[in-house]
Amino acid sequence: MAGSSTETDWVSRFADDVIAESERRAPGKPVVVASGLSPSGPIHLGNLREVMTPHLVADEIRRRGIAVRHLISWDDYDRYRKVPNGVEGVDDSWAEHIGKPLTSVPAPAGSPYPNWAEHFKAQMSAALDELGVEYDPISQTAQYTAGTYREQILHAMRHRADIDAILAQYRTKKAPAKQSQKPVDDAELAAEEGSGAAEEDDGSGSAAGYFPYKPYCGECGKDLTTVTSYDDETTELTYTCACGHGETVLLSEFNRGKLVWKVDWPMRWAYEGVVFEPSGVDHSSPGSSFQVGGQIVGPIFGGKQPIGPMYAFVGISGMAKMSSSKGGVPVPADALRIMEPQILRWLYARRRPNQSFKIAFDQEIQRLYDEWDALTRKVGEGIALPADVAAYARAAGTAAGELPRTPRPLPYRTLASVADITAGAEQQTLRILSELEPDRPLAALDEVRPRLDRAEAWISSQVPAEQRTVVRAEPDAERLVALDDGERGALKLLVDGLGSHWSLDGLTTLVYAVPKVQAGLDPDAKPTPELKVAQRSFFALLYELLVGRDTGPRLPTLLLAVGQDRVRTLLGAGG
Ligand SMILES: [Zn+2]
Repeated sequence: MAGSSTETDWVSRFADDVIAESERRAPGKPVVVASGLSPSGPIHLGNLREVMTPHLVADEIRRRGIAVRHLISWDDYDRYRKVPNGVEGVDDSWAEHIGKPLTSVPAPAGSPYPNWAEHFKAQMSAALDELGVEYDPISQTAQYTAGTYREQILHAMRHRADIDAILAQYRTKKAPAKQSQKPVDDAELAAEEGSGAAEEDDGSGSAAGYFPYKPYCGECGKDLTTVTSYDDETTELTYTCACGHGETVLLSEFNRGKLVWKVDWPMRWAYEGVVFEPSGVDHSSPGSSFQVGGQIVGPIFGGKQPIGPMYAFVGISGMAKMSSSKGGVPVPADALRIMEPQILRWLYARRRPNQSFKIAFDQEIQRLYDEWDALTRKVGEGIALPADVAAYARAAGTAAGELPRTPRPLPYRTLASVADITAGAEQQTLRILSELEPDRPLAALDEVRPRLDRAEAWISSQVPAEQRTVVRAEPDAERLVALDDGERGALKLLVDGLGSHWSLDGLTTLVYAVPKVQAGLDPDAKPTPELKVAQRSFFALLYELLVGRDTGPRLPTLLLAVGQDRVRTLLGAGG
């Protein structure tokens, strides 16, 4: 499919622009796209767009056979700002590390990782691998502490007055409270999260002037430091720290500090030659780090601002309160537990970056899966629209090939209903699923995995206990005695038809036909309003007798799940 989808979807159009721009800026060099992530805590699912937008564009470029790098900058040399709430293995004592680089903060208790940043990076990296995201990770701790940006730092210090003048244009304007490069879910998160982004993110002046660089203290390890003098000739830098420590170092040899965020980001655009790096809508305001970075990158670092579309926020809907894996924050791994990677990729591929959407953890996920299955069929039959085919291909695989797919993708809602009824019991699940299509019985549950596992996880983590289906252990004797003649007749029609209709399709036909036959209509008759009323009350009766409430999983699935003998017993027709 390489190159075939040009001009059919937003990804192709961005790829065209990015390739052309890269050719203008750096002819013959690989195209560079970038994302930035802050491992300051659990990485919010909403922030996945920061990665997926450049990923999809890079993947399209790769499909066209053009060399491309997707850099993911781990902003792990940023300061630890606050102790996130509700993270397992973390208590208030972590507050003593505020001000240190994220890689110098201990990991949560019990973590196999050496520090805070690595702990949260690992969680995100695993999700990105599962999603098929190919990227070059860059640890900013590794870069800064190795002296990689030495020249750029010395250069920025030499031009600190110019930087200060650029920043000053924005300081007088009312700056937004928060200037993260990251999309966030709501105002509260906006106040909590962020990479290098806070009130001090453009550096601060002291009596000695403005400096765009901050050392981490040699004594306490924190950034509570103030540069008190700097000599451009010798690169001698003197700082003092709130802890009382102070020292003079040679910046030409010193590797324990970093450029302030608003200077750091454009420095890296120039250093890496980034052509495409989208950012959240919070960057549309003047004074945001993306906008200010655009003013700094050329005059100071001789580079260019990336093509940087603003992407809209991605919301989360219907997530059960207690179900997120870490600290009450939904992370990509939570979504991947209930949906296959293709589905999550599809959500991003089918929407332009400036369209917001929600990732559904509630009943909506069943509709989403129905839509995906319908699209899969249309693509197979060659009748899908070009843009839908493109989104499908981007979701189903990458330039490296197809992602692993469920061999026999039975409907998610069916699998969920079965999981609901069986509570995951394997033998019962296999029996029910085998009866769905009797002429093509299931040989093993692996045929429906991993989709089955996702549906089971959805039922157990997102559907509250009081909404689960519990099949009656005993017939409802009282209700059975109270049946009127019409009800009795309908149940008899159903029970008599079970044997010859025992499949998903067969039972679907049967349950709709019973009220028609009772009304003296042909089983294929078009439903009238009266008939719909009759069907609804018949279905309610079945739910009442089978599961003791007036709704439940789709009836054909429920009947299959309960099993023929038990259905007969519960409907009062048992031996
Ligand atoms: Zn100190």
